[in-house]
Amino acid sequence: MRTQVGIIGAGPAGLLLSHLLALRGIDSVVVENRSRDYVQARIRAGVLEQGTVDTLTEAGLGQRLHREGMRHDGIYLQTPAGREHLDFPGLCGRSVWVYGQTEVVRDLVAARLAAGRPTYFEVSHTAVHDTDSDRPRVTFVDADGRPHELECDAVAGCDGFHGITRDLLETSTQQTWTRSYPYAWLGILATVAPSTDELIYAWHPHGFALHSMRSAHVSRLYLQVEPGEDLTLWSDDRIWSELQTRLGVDGWLLETGPITDRSITAMRSFVSAPMRQGRLFLAGDAAHIVPPTGAKGLNLAVSDVVVLCDALTALVGEGRSELADAYTEVALRRVWRATHFSWWMTSMLHRSGDDFDAQLQLSQLAYVTSSRAASESFAENYTGMPIR
Ligand SMILES: Cc1cc2nc3c(=O)[nH]c(=O)nc-3n(C[C@H](O)[C@H](O)[C@H](O)COP(=O)(O)OP(=O)(O)OC[C@H]3O[C@@H](n4cnc5c(N)ncnc54)[C@H](O)[C@@H]3O)c2cc1C
Repeated sequence: MRTQVGIIGAGPAGLLLSHLLALRGIDSVVVENRSRDYVQARIRAGVLEQGTVDTLTEAGLGQRLHREGMRHDGIYLQTPAGREHLDFPGLCGRSVWVYGQTEVVRDLVAARLAAGRPTYFEVSHTAVHDTDSDRPRVTFVDADGRPHELECDAVAGCDGFHGITRDLLETSTQQTWTRSYPYAWLGILATVAPSTDELIYAWHPHGFALHSMRSAHVSRLYLQVEPGEDLTLWSDDRIWSELQTRLGVDGWLLETGPITDRSITAMRSFVSAPMRQGRLFLAGDAAHIVPPTGAKGLNLAVSDVVVLCDALTALVGEGRSELADAYTEVALRRVWRATHFSWWMTSMLHRSGDDFDAQLQLSQLAYVTSSRAASESFAENYTGMPIR
């Protein structure tokens, strides 16, 4: 088989890249080691920056998003002193959208399959070869056990944090930065209407809590817990009671409902650079991850892919390499901004350390909600910096 761009991974990064390249007349083949049902059902992100929504809309992928997604013009930041609202359009002229990653992936898979473009789910033995040549190859075994060899002009490693492509970069030139946090998130999905119109981020002496949502009927809630927390210690009653305690303010009640999914998520920041070697380019979680507090991971995958699409179009479509050469530098600027914001928001909201740290956190939260300059900076980062 021959294609211009071989794409490893059918997550948001790989699927969107294939779609944007097709709009520019560049063909690609996507290989994914999970099933279509699995990637469409994986519960993860749910908050889209304005730039992500604009990108999806301009690419013709916005119909369902605009019909079923929920535009949010702000968030609530809460401490025991009370619940404060930040008004994003008033602060920075932008909004965010609540639309599950599951739905984004569903839309992308549907668009790709409707266009009849080659996508292989449930592959195994994925390998990438000759990345330093002009003809890198991807080999894999398809779901029926047939081996394939894909000759490409370039390969995009969009295979997430646990994928294979990052390990193919030369360790002598590769630099990584990591921060592990001393807490984790216990996340639940529940069939109950959200008890709030916009997300509530709550600092509480027991630990952080977040009230998010996926639709008018489905709520997504999180509790700060210890890393390695045992989920079996958390009955439904204990989860709801702790959420009510941490999210509660006078006169407000958290509605409860059946819990349909629960998981523990570790909190880590990680950046690996350069994001390219020869004709192999990394995008999304393959190159970097952030703790979920700032809702940046999926959005960073989208911004990487927008920049990478320009670079690959010039490289394989027109034989020009300057955008490919600049890819790491351009993408990393946004990656580090989001990495800093995610770290800062995480550090401000999670209980750890002593009472001195707690007072600093509360002072910072009071500053963000009372100072115009601080709340503008927060809103600008939360709704997302410009992609280009
Ligand atoms: C609990 C949770 C909550 C989150 N909340 C948010 C949020 O609110 N906002 C936000 O922006 N982000 C959030 N994120 C982060 C977001 O989900 C990720 O950043 C996003 O999925 C990255 O997309 P990706 O395409 O780069 O990687 P992935 O989604 O991980 O996709 C990579 C794909 O590659 C496939 N793959 C791996 N190895 C191979 C191989 N060898 N061969 C073929 N295929 C392979 C995988 O199966 C997968 O489908 C959250 C994450 C978690 C875990």
